[in-house]
Amino acid sequence: NADAAMYKAKEAGRDNFQFYTTEMNSRVHGRLNQIEELRTAISGGEFHLRYQPQIDLASGRMVSIEALVRWDHPVKGLISPADFIPLAESSGLIVPLGDWVLQEACRQNKSWQDAGLAPLTVCVNVSARQFSDRTWVCRVKHALDLSGLDAGCLELELTESLLMQNMDQAIATMNDLRELGVRFAIDDFGTGYSNLSALKSFPVARLKIDKCFISNLASDDSDLGIVAAIISLGQNLRMKVIAEGVETGEQLEILRRNGCDEVQGFHFSRPVAPDVIGSMLAGHHPVIRPLPRA
Ligand code: C2E
Ligand code: MG
Ligand code: MG
Ligand code: MG
Repeated sequence: NADAAMYKAKEAGRDNFQFYTTEMNSRVHGRLNQIEELRTAISGGEFHLRYQPQIDLASGRMVSIEALVRWDHPVKGLISPADFIPLAESSGLIVPLGDWVLQEACRQNKSWQDAGLAPLTVCVNVSARQFSDRTWVCRVKHALDLSGLDAGCLELELTESLLMQNMDQAIATMNDLRELGVRFAIDDFGTGYSNLSALKSFPVARLKIDKCFISNLASDDSDLGIVAAIISLGQNLRMKVIAEGVETGEQLEILRRNGCDEVQGFHFSRPVAPDVIGSMLAGHHPVIRPLPRA
């Protein structure tokens, strides 16, 4: 009986072991395939950029746009960044992909200016993996040189967690780029863990209030409290404050009443193709609604 039990356990163990390795193998293969697919997509040019307007509330004008990457998969169709940026980051492929995004955003912005349209700032999202690379400052310079874009028309969006990872190095890197004229924003502000005393040391031009605080702004007093606090914090540090994820006129009114500087969200425009931005700049495209008076 004891022998039988031991035999059973061994069998079960062996089965478990086999099951485990098979599943692990297929998971590793799945991941390797996905990385390979992503690598091919980068060299094959399967990505494009959408741009989302950011509106200055004082003037009602589009003053900047955020570049957002999209993957046009030949079989799966359009894939959102939430579904491939994490793999791009963990595999390191975010470095070549990020270079492409940066170069394309600079090139596009310069081409609008060359067409005589009003100058805009283009905002580009940057991952920790890109930013902490020794060659990062050179990569940004290269994108500016290639495109001929004025550095003052480029803003880089970093997250709180990226900045807090290695503060001294982050400040040094930012100051190198600041000397060129590049500006910085802190993205998704309020969701990471921020060392408030460190905030004053970062050469940051803008705070972007995360959209999770905006979605229930009209009904949730705590969210309203947080948003009002971020606005006064940013402004006291001489930063501009922009709210992302603004979807309704009601949210817009609350933000305006609380002195928010700028807004971005579906209420004004979804991320759109470059030619739509071109027509907005040329005044042919009434995507930006007339803002109600305060
Ligand atoms: P993010 O930088 O915080 O970008 C804002 C996201 O909110 C975008 O999602 C945008 O489409 C979405 N959004 C804008 N307005 C509204 C609104 O009114 N309501 C709602 N519900 N959503 C709104 P998207 O394009 O899917 O990008 C998701 C995230 O992927 C970005 O968040 C950013 O973290 C990352 N990402 C996108 N492009 C790049 C890139 O080129 N490089 C890197 N490293 N990350 C990127
Ligand atoms: Mg962003
Ligand atoms: Mg954000
Ligand atoms: Mg984000």
